[in-house]
Amino acid sequence: MFAQFALHERLLKAVAELNFVEPTPVQAAAIPPALEGKDLRVIAQTGSGKTAAFVLPLLNRLLGDGNSKQRLSIRALILLPTRELAQQTLKEVERFAQFTFLKAGLVTGGEDFKVQAAMMRKIDILIGTPGRLIEHANAGNLPLDEVEVLVFDEADRMLDMGFAEDAQRLAEACGPHQTLLFSATTGGNGLREMVAKVLKDPQHLMLNSVSQLNEGTRQQIITADHNYHKEQLVDWLLANETYDKAIVFTNTRVQADRLYGKLVAAGVKAFVLHGEKDQKDRKLAIDRLRQGAVKVLVATDVAARGLDVEGLDLVINFDMPRSGDEYVHRIGRTGRAGGEGLAVSLICHTDWNLMSSIERYLKQRFERRTIKELKGIYQGPKNLKASGKAAGSKKKKTDKKDPKKATASKRKTGPRPAGKPSVLVSADGSAPLKRKKPAAE
Ligand code: AMP
Repeated sequence: MFAQFALHERLLKAVAELNFVEPTPVQAAAIPPALEGKDLRVIAQTGSGKTAAFVLPLLNRLLGDGNSKQRLSIRALILLPTRELAQQTLKEVERFAQFTFLKAGLVTGGEDFKVQAAMMRKIDILIGTPGRLIEHANAGNLPLDEVEVLVFDEADRMLDMGFAEDAQRLAEACGPHQTLLFSATTGGNGLREMVAKVLKDPQHLMLNSVSQLNEGTRQQIITADHNYHKEQLVDWLLANETYDKAIVFTNTRVQADRLYGKLVAAGVKAFVLHGEKDQKDRKLAIDRLRQGAVKVLVATDVAARGLDVEGLDLVINFDMPRSGDEYVHRIGRTGRAGGEGLAVSLICHTDWNLMSSIERYLKQRFERRTIKELKGIYQGPKNLKASGKAAGSKKKKTDKKDPKKATASKRKTGPRPAGKPSVLVSADGSAPLKRKKPAAE
């Protein structure tokens, strides 16, 4: 029950209004120490309820004893790697703050600079992406000296996108503050350095190891001979799978555009989202997907980061992501807040080694799937197949008529209750995979 937390009654009212009954594990673990004012370093999967885990303590702090009047200064700063994620976070903040006087505002690229500068003088909580915020700081528009709470969400991704320096500069510009840093993965050396710099004597909360991620999502691979074969497989999956909304990931925008063109030509209602699209296109794509006007989004990683679209239950990796962490981010989009999902990765001979190293990283074996009418020549490395047979590792059979049916009973249908928290102290331990530079977006 949320009443177990020492939260302001106006926040408890909002929680009740939103029909949140049980706190999720990340909320149960993070809210009490955050309310005590501790710095936190939290690893929690996308869709675990982590937004509320930092928003509620943050609002509680700003509300104080409830007697203080609106101060018209920025007292909390929430940094996120992308515009979409920032927009979603603003919505969450507004939902939780609906019975308070606290005002939040958004500052991301692609919006009018002057309008943003004026808006920043009228808010308590600033939510934004580091790049645009630094531009405002450089222009002298960004008074952060009264910031009491600083949040880094999806910090691992923020670093991947090259925001390390900007994010740290913003942290330095804040007044004395509490820092809450969230990431979906343990990240690499860059993140460890940042943790050491921006957090003071932090409490480490590790809500899940990567191997426990996405329990609600079934993970499969299908081998392919070449890109054209992959395109046929995408067509087949989109036509034959049962899903509400699907996202197809490519590693490059050229491939995203190409695939999008093919899908549209084949009559699929789709949108494409990548770094070259302007803000209007991106908003339109996400709104249409949310409303259900399109069912399929073709996207590159950076563009799709942090999307929280309800009913997104099919992820297709046209290209294998370049690291285990990226894989976790991609499939973290399905099965959100306990929903079910299916993730299918298409594997050419050039993807195989990467795929196996991601399996090792996640300590999981993806289900091998074949689509009879599109069976290619490439079936994985020959020596591996031979040794697999010798070890008696038969391929899993797939219920081809209804591929979801086979494991439907295995899937979770709700957020894992907080009663059995999987909280481990110390978020040490790094990915065995070497993080490669993100693809040019
Ligand atoms: P997040 O991980 O913060 O993106 O949250 C994922 C989804 O779960 C969002 O749509 C939240 O509104 C929802 N959610 C978060 N916490 C709870 C909760 N305690 N009970 C029900 N839904 C929740």
